[in-house]
Amino acid sequence: MRSRPPDPALRVLSLGGGTQSTVLALLAEHDFFEHKPDVAIFADTGWEPPAVYKNIEWLRSVISFPIETVSIGRSLREDVIAGVNTSGSPWLTIPTFLSAPDGTPAGMNWRQCTTHYKIKPIKEQVRRLLGLSPRSPVAYSTSMEMWLGITIDEAERMRVSPDPWIVNCYPLIDLGMSREDCIEWFHGEYPGRGLPRSACVGCPYHSASSWVQMRETDKTSFDDAVAIDKLLRSPDHNATSMFRNRVFLHSRRLPLEEAVALDTAELAATASEDEHWGNECAGICGT
Ligand code: SF4
Repeated sequence: MRSRPPDPALRVLSLGGGTQSTVLALLAEHDFFEHKPDVAIFADTGWEPPAVYKNIEWLRSVISFPIETVSIGRSLREDVIAGVNTSGSPWLTIPTFLSAPDGTPAGMNWRQCTTHYKIKPIKEQVRRLLGLSPRSPVAYSTSMEMWLGITIDEAERMRVSPDPWIVNCYPLIDLGMSREDCIEWFHGEYPGRGLPRSACVGCPYHSASSWVQMRETDKTSFDDAVAIDKLLRSPDHNATSMFRNRVFLHSRRLPLEEAVALDTAELAATASEDEHWGNECAGICGT
């Protein structure tokens, strides 16, 4: 990891609106760190669950530093439904599970959504805040901190930023906090409040327990994901003509409702709670 710059031009908290980034923002507000962020930035993909939007609004009421919402001006949900990428060309930017015509697993398609719908708008906003025009070079002497809500139980998601002027910082790791520690601290400070899970409604990286929880607590979002999952295999959808394989949102490579019914039975039998986020990513999604 790069060491923190002594005098960063900007300290930005990347706010996904889920457990870890919410607790990170609150710990900063409670002066757990030497400095507060100058700003927290929430990248709205247009497909977050209602609980995340509500949580962002609540955070605005309890946090003294600004929370800015940014987006690329498109909805990931609408683009998945239309089967297009951010340029409007036929594509599927979310990482779906593929199944060959004979039913054997055929890997996943390449994930581009995080980069285009989350990382890019945050980076563009950072450049604006630094007074830089979209393509102007960044001075060698410029350096800023990007705070990411990664905990010690998922330390493998830490990354060095590809941009030399952005220093990724992991304050929860510095504090030695796990996801469970975050939840415990939060419930001690804000009894009776819940913490949402941050991920797009139809994100294929939802784990089994996460899908089951969505069906039980947010039926509207779950039904939306079920309908879109089905749409992705319809003869008229771009995904059908682009891939030789069938496309699924669930790792079981079954229609979503059927897959989650199996998850429910399996979780009840094992009484286990798996991880809510089943795949490594750039540190933006799922926190
Ligand atoms: S949460 Fe999932 S679908 Fe949404 S941007 Fe991240 S990887 Fe893509």
